Amino acid sequence: MQRTYTGETCAGPFPMDRRALLVFSFALAAALGQVNFTGDQVLRILAKDETQLSLLRDLEGLKPPKVDFWRAPARPSLPVDMRVPFSELTDVKDYLESHDFAYSVMIKDVQVLLDEERETMAKSRRLERSTSDFSYSSYHTLEEIYSWIDNFVTEHSDIVSKIQIGSSFENRSILVLKFSTGGSRRPAIWIDTGIHSREWITHATGIWTAKKIVSEYGRDRVLTDILKAMDIFIELVTNPDGFAFTHSMNRLWRKNKSIRPGMFCIGVDLNRNWKSGFGGNGSNSNPCSETYHGPSPQSEPEVAAIVDFITAHGNFKVLISIHSYSQMLMYPYGQSVEPVSNQKELFRLAKAAVKALRAVHGMEYVFGSISTTLYTASGITVDWAYDSGIKYAFSFELRDTGQYGFLLPASQIIPTAQETWMAIWTIMRHALTHPY
Ligand SMILES: [Zn+2]
Repeated sequence: MQRTYTGETCAGPFPMDRRALLVFSFALAAALGQVNFTGDQVLRILAKDETQLSLLRDLEGLKPPKVDFWRAPARPSLPVDMRVPFSELTDVKDYLESHDFAYSVMIKDVQVLLDEERETMAKSRRLERSTSDFSYSSYHTLEEIYSWIDNFVTEHSDIVSKIQIGSSFENRSILVLKFSTGGSRRPAIWIDTGIHSREWITHATGIWTAKKIVSEYGRDRVLTDILKAMDIFIELVTNPDGFAFTHSMNRLWRKNKSIRPGMFCIGVDLNRNWKSGFGGNGSNSNPCSETYHGPSPQSEPEVAAIVDFITAHGNFKVLISIHSYSQMLMYPYGQSVEPVSNQKELFRLAKAAVKALRAVHGMEYVFGSISTTLYTASGITVDWAYDSGIKYAFSFELRDTGQYGFLLPASQIIPTAQETWMAIWTIMRHALTHPY
């Protein structure tokens, strides 16, 4: 199924005008049964207090859920963003008004942004076919990313290799890029992107970062020193089934695609499926929830693959897990407000990383521990990493702060990747100069 939507028939020699292309892509989407978001809105709500927050949480608990949280209810000081399907819009707005909520419309029609995104991808794909160049400033499908990986590894075989660490629920390869200048089981750095499949800016940032590493090696003294002492591993598509599904059927899919007998809803939130604090606050036992933690810790093959790989390796010193959106850099814990033992060091390092990030394009990131900066979340990647002895564990929420949310325009890929790189670089440098 995921091969059918590529807009391949658009790639012919005859230029199609914009409108024809749009009409064509509507027709194609409809023919394939892709979820249509026409008239859906993203609303931003500022809750006054805990009571209002729980009134918002109630909206997700309904069956079927009335809303899809883009920024879940956390604390009164943080906005809540939620996509409301067109069919529920009147009801939900009445609900908000009757409970005296202040809200604004962040995205007036989600489908308009999706159509623009699709059109931009089709255009760039035609260009790539004519030049056989991979565009780092475009979004790509799973097939395109996997074929880029093969070319990239071939081209830079002196320092890059590809490792398959497992297979997804639907049996897709789970791939990791390894950057190494030699040695065995060197201290290692882990970076993963796309564990939540709709966060497309994260995969794109990961790809640009991989390219940056090979081009800076031998040029940037710090990165060169890092690669002389450490290996870097990047998992670009941490949730391949979900990601394929965001292209073929539902652009806003977050979870993986696992199904279980007798269960109506599909998928587990892979960032709630880790052992550390599994099943605690900020995760959900309802399989229909977007934060469903799954039946047991590491029940999902996408999580188990990473756990097995990192555990078998045994020498990871840094783990960076990349999400979007909200512009935050955070460290453990998510599961509790208890400070970790090197909290002061992580705070200072996050502060330095955010400063380096801001110096690139002036973007403001907030930082701190996950539970105090964002919300309580249990069974998450970075808590597991920390509890497994990786004391430099960080989680990013990339651009933006809600104007486009998950539908960040491709024109922001390179600036986002550039600034994120400086933060990652700062963290890696610290790990190099503070070995443990
Ligand atoms: Zn995420």
